[in-house]
Amino acid sequence: MAEYDDDNIFAKILRGEIPCEKVYEDDYVLAFNDIDPKAPIHILVIPKGKYISIVDFGENASALEIKGFFVAVSKIAKEKGIDEQGFRSIANAGINGGQEVPHFHLHLLGGKRIGAMVSN
Ligand code: 5GP
Repeated sequence: MAEYDDDNIFAKILRGEIPCEKVYEDDYVLAFNDIDPKAPIHILVIPKGKYISIVDFGENASALEIKGFFVAVSKIAKEKGIDEQGFRSIANAGINGGQEVPHFHLHLLGGKRIGAMVSN
């Protein structure tokens, strides 16, 4: 597996070197608004640990980090009021997945009907 790039944009956001519109933070995650939102609500949830992708996260994160991550996702969905009406969560991975930033992140998209799962 490739090495984690400490200069990726989300690493810089985590270190406070680049600002973000923070929506939630705890010991395990930081969540902030996507700079180029694709829905009325478009939040990125990232683990604080250095994980390149969902594969790296699933393989190498501790049980506490993994639980902490998903507990935070639930809290954010509730705090943002998208838990009842629903939302789309997406984790792009690698080249075929179209992952642009090599720090694992989950997109939460809500506030409207998101539509077809993928376009052809
Ligand atoms: P990916 O394609 O890697 O799954 O998604 C990366 C996401 O990060 C994109 O939706 C893009 O708009 C967002 N993004 C890229 N740079 C920044 C940034 O500097 N700040 C914020 N808030 N989002 C960013």
